[in-house]
Amino acid sequence: MKPVIHNFNAGPSVLPREVFEEASKAILNFNDTGLSILEIGHRTSLFQPVMDEARSLVKELMQLGDKHEVLFLHGGATTQFMQVPMNLLNENDIASYTETGTWAGKAIKEAKLYGHVEIAGSTKTDNYCSIPDELSVSPTAAYLHITTNETIAGTQWQAIPYDCGVPLVADMSSDILSRQLDFNRFDLIYAGAQKNMGAAGVNLVVVNKEILGKVDRTIPTILDYRNHISEGSMLNTPPVFAVYVVLLTLRWLKAKGGVAAIEKLNDEKATLFYNTLDSLPVFRGPVAKQDRSRMNAVFVMENPALENEFMELCKKENMIGIKGHRSVGGFRVSMYNALTIDSVKALTDLMKDFATKKG
Ligand SMILES: *Cc1c(COP(=O)(O)O)cnc(C)c1O
Repeated sequence: MKPVIHNFNAGPSVLPREVFEEASKAILNFNDTGLSILEIGHRTSLFQPVMDEARSLVKELMQLGDKHEVLFLHGGATTQFMQVPMNLLNENDIASYTETGTWAGKAIKEAKLYGHVEIAGSTKTDNYCSIPDELSVSPTAAYLHITTNETIAGTQWQAIPYDCGVPLVADMSSDILSRQLDFNRFDLIYAGAQKNMGAAGVNLVVVNKEILGKVDRTIPTILDYRNHISEGSMLNTPPVFAVYVVLLTLRWLKAKGGVAAIEKLNDEKATLFYNTLDSLPVFRGPVAKQDRSRMNAVFVMENPALENEFMELCKKENMIGIKGHRSVGGFRVSMYNALTIDSVKALTDLMKDFATKKG
């Protein structure tokens, strides 16, 4: 028997046990065909249904209308930092970006390669411990870009600026399908799969077709969203196994009751964690309370000299992945969809024990 491991990794991260089991079966004998999913053509009647079902489940779970297309692309969210402005921003135009942390910063850097960037709101001077209260978006901006959840800083947009007056683009890599949002009001959503919806190697892109085809530049074939749409997300060989793992995770999510049900569970986990954190003076959460992420919780110790001891204790109890990002320090616990409330309970119990001993 495998020991119980509480996996708080930030990404790649925990996925449902059922998904691992189904995925490993498919490597040896996919759908009782006697073939591995790794050795079949992507344009065959064996794989095509995988792509079709994955795309339609995204539509269903996000309740998307006809304008929105679902694509599974290579290159991770980092490729989208470049592909978004390449497809949406003319050289002499402005794109509006919110500057909320490491990931937003990387998106801004790439956008500057293709046009002008204005900062609609920034929390840099606050060490990215909050989300901007107000935004200033030029009415002529090609789009507004937000990072709905900053995986490293531990912040999350609670009120989405739907009414910004320009197309809305979002990096949802670390909170995709974790909460109910009005997904139809976004014009482009992208997310690397490895945080909350599957295996590394594939990227979800949801795009409103109507915003495409408006830039002057020549876009390389593989980077033009329109080509992927017209080829049904099979312009070239998709990352077949990673798409299959996404499909299994989407099926799991649907069986759980969909986004509404998982949101409720995610709220329970985050409430348990943050209530514990706030009740124990030895720990401190640096993020503004109203902007705290329900996916990635960042915390430190009032006495940093105790941090190693707490880390060792966590290791002993099979709690992994709680070390803070190297740029922030302290601790970070990621509570993605597949993390059970039992894991959060185990961690909060340990925090309480530790606080009692040190208090
Ligand atoms: C992890 C992450 C990325 C980078 O994703 P890759 O798939 O590694 O390129 C981008 N944005 C956010 C918010 C992330 O959490």
